[in-house]
Amino acid sequence: VRVALLAGGTGGTKLAHGFAQVLPGDDLAVIVNVGDDLELHGLHVSPDVDALLYTLGGLIDTERGWGLRGDTFTAHAMLERYGAPSWFRLGDADLATHIHRTHLMRAGATLTEATAAMASTLGIGARVLPATDDPVRTRVETDAGVLDFQDYFVRLRHEPEVRGVQLAGLETARASASAVEAIAAADLVVIGPSNPVVSIGPILALPELRAAVEASSAVRVAVSPIVAGAALKGPADRMLRSLGHEATALGVAKMYAGLVHRFVLDDADADLARDVAALGMEADVLPTVMRTEADRAALARAVMEVSRPA
Ligand code: GDP
Repeated sequence: VRVALLAGGTGGTKLAHGFAQVLPGDDLAVIVNVGDDLELHGLHVSPDVDALLYTLGGLIDTERGWGLRGDTFTAHAMLERYGAPSWFRLGDADLATHIHRTHLMRAGATLTEATAAMASTLGIGARVLPATDDPVRTRVETDAGVLDFQDYFVRLRHEPEVRGVQLAGLETARASASAVEAIAAADLVVIGPSNPVVSIGPILALPELRAAVEASSAVRVAVSPIVAGAALKGPADRMLRSLGHEATALGVAKMYAGLVHRFVLDDADADLARDVAALGMEADVLPTVMRTEADRAALARAVMEVSRPA
């Protein structure tokens, strides 16, 4: 089974790790959000790509949920001393990732090529494919003004209410050809349990990418990032509410209606299955909370199992 998974940095990445445990390397393509990318200290930082590289490479700091396990922050302290922005913390080894990526890109590599080279060095078999090589940057309209995504998410700890989302650069951006091809070649397209607005939204906003999903003959399934009316991490539930959606698995299913054949809800939301099915998709009730590596693999297996053509 060739799987193409759409993912952001946390929920989608955990499910990617599940698929990576149960599929041979090349059968998994992860199409990653780059709307969160930023330029910091002159370096290209790609938080969701790095979450995937570090998770699939077995390097992520699982306690913090970002950066590398055991990393130190000496360079960060020195940058702070120089008066450089210090609200986005980068560990020393993490910094090496951004230096290396930026170096490859200044030498002419696309983000896709730089990511592939780094994934290969880290021994990752799955293809990690940025949704686009062009700069599409998420900005959020909030009560505190229009903010760059990381300004909102990290500096302001996602406290401001989100009233709208803009994707700067979208008009001229092209989807990554590798991502489009991976979707076309997939037997199973999975929308991971990531924030539908700011993680999956910027991926599906790329017209060629959305068209590839719509044209795909694969089974298309989404996994709910909302469990029992709440996000397990981050502001997805609040963001859904302030943007006029329901902050429930059903609310997310409505956002994907017409795009997916199946929708996976958590056991805790079994009572919503009938309403999800009424949207014209199969509702699959499964344990979706991934606490351990085994949970991730089990969910990946279960998603493949329910999606198997009859
Ligand atoms: P970000 O880029 O770090 O914001 O990450 P994502 O958009 O990928 O992840 C945020 C979403 O992942 C939130 O809505 C969480 O509820 C969801 N999430 C995190 N862990 C899990 C999990 O184990 N299971 C499910 N179903 N959702 C999860």
